[in-house]
Amino acid sequence: MFQPCECGSGKTYAGCCGRLHLGAPARDAEELMRSRYCAFHRGDAAYLRKSWAAETRPADLTLDPAQAWTGLTVHSHETTGPATARVRFTATWRKGARTGRLTETSRFRREGPGWVYVDGEVS
Ligand SMILES: [Zn+2]
Repeated sequence: MFQPCECGSGKTYAGCCGRLHLGAPARDAEELMRSRYCAFHRGDAAYLRKSWAAETRPADLTLDPAQAWTGLTVHSHETTGPATARVRFTATWRKGARTGRLTETSRFRREGPGWVYVDGEVS
């Protein structure tokens, strides 16, 4: 059975964000960003902490189980230096009867064989 990845890539979960959640390094910042959206969707706080740069990682990360992430659109993926990149995206959510959208430009840094999330600017 085809199980599409929640990040909307059109690939299977196992062949997309599932690989990263199991420990494979992200090949680029967009791949890491998608896997983090997918981890928010699945409530995987451990993966979110692991893929966060040490200096900006929250000491305690609690996800709101009532907030459901309902879709992701990646607008752009830009290389900004030899080991840095920027991804702009919109994620939609639902909480009870309320819905909303979050548009953010996130900064990423290459670290070891993969990438980590540094910070983001909501716009
Ligand atoms: Zn995915």
